[in-house]
Amino acid sequence: MSHLKTLSTEELQQQHAVLAGSYEAVQAQKLKLDMSRGKPCSEQLDLSNDLFNCLSKTDYKTANGTDCRNYGGLDGIAEAKELFAWFLESKPQEIIIGGSSSLTMMHDLLCRAMLHGLPESEAPWCKLPKVKFLCPSPGYDRHFAVTEHLGMELITIPYLHDGPDMDLVEKLVAADPAIKGIWCVPKYSNPTGITYSDSVVQRLAAMPTAAPDFRIIWDNAYVVHHLTDTPDQLLDIRKACAAAGHADRVFIFASTSKINFPSAGIAMVAASENNVNWLKKHLTIQTIGPDKINQLRHVRFLQNQAGIEEHMRKHAAVIKPKFEMVLSILERELGGLDIASWSKPQGGYFISLDTLPGCASKVVEKAAAAGVLLTPAGATFPYGKDPEDKNIRLSPTFPPLSELKQAMELVVLCVKLVSIEQELARRAA
Ligand code: PMP
Repeated sequence: MSHLKTLSTEELQQQHAVLAGSYEAVQAQKLKLDMSRGKPCSEQLDLSNDLFNCLSKTDYKTANGTDCRNYGGLDGIAEAKELFAWFLESKPQEIIIGGSSSLTMMHDLLCRAMLHGLPESEAPWCKLPKVKFLCPSPGYDRHFAVTEHLGMELITIPYLHDGPDMDLVEKLVAADPAIKGIWCVPKYSNPTGITYSDSVVQRLAAMPTAAPDFRIIWDNAYVVHHLTDTPDQLLDIRKACAAAGHADRVFIFASTSKINFPSAGIAMVAASENNVNWLKKHLTIQTIGPDKINQLRHVRFLQNQAGIEEHMRKHAAVIKPKFEMVLSILERELGGLDIASWSKPQGGYFISLDTLPGCASKVVEKAAAAGVLLTPAGATFPYGKDPEDKNIRLSPTFPPLSELKQAMELVVLCVKLVSIEQELARRAA
């Protein structure tokens, strides 16, 4: 296929007929494939099966003698805090190890801010006429859903090559006290794969905000999820905030969901002592304590930093060929055509595909009609609405390679078909 603009209408119609024939042939195969969510595949889950064997009838105590079978230990076991301190870039006393989901912890944090306010809030956020939250987009749909569900107004911030558009962020937060925070997935971002540059991190840490209780939700879900031996480097946000005189500005979240078993892992938060003390005050009302047995099990399994890094290399060996296949099909079929562009991530779980404006939802519909389920178009934007209708999140990890190949061949076919249909419609108008 050549550049659409260089083809005559007749040539476009001919190409369309050929591609439509290929599409019908795929439809006849009655595929049933799912590329919609960033889940690990069973081969990845198998890497953690020793989690089932690493505690025993005689091994259930921590080094300080805590019996993990019983109540107690609101903020998690000491070994788990030590194990994760390096990637949270925090001291053990600045860490809370919680239940099995970091999303739950983020949700609960914002609920508390709404109901009670943060330490320096003048009032609980729910008493304010309006609460707004910045949503760098395309971003993680479940983040946006949390703030939408709590009644906040979501403000879309475009992504640039190295993170959110900071000129816009700085301008908005300086002027509007109703803007209470920003969602950030700073490393191998979901879905763009971007890692925030040093300058973006420093500007987030230092920017003046009209709201005294402004918070950065620093969701480092992909902190150790590298696909190469030369991982992206991310500046230490807590250090940057402290240096700028804003030590309380950030909460860092992470979990073992995509290290071991999603929904059966352990989640964590790190923040200034002020923030952690505030959190503990609220946590103690909510729970007597987290599942310490699960925490101990993960400590025994992962052991230390080297253990985590080694384990993550095994994940990369399983999923790297999947990313490479998706990227090679995109390049082979769409490269140089000017009808799509895509991310080439160094880590994380997603490839972000941008079609021509106005095409993404039609591509997703067409793929679904031929049996391939993609993340709904628009899902990566606040309110599920992509203003340009061009972003599609591809999740290569879950399907087996052979299915992924079939799914991607259909996706690129749909992108070509929809792009030609749009060009023909434009010429006819
Ligand atoms: N944050 C991001 C950016 C994610 O992509 C995901 C899972 N897909 C989560 C959080 C969910 O994490 P958890 O399982 O710890 O709730």
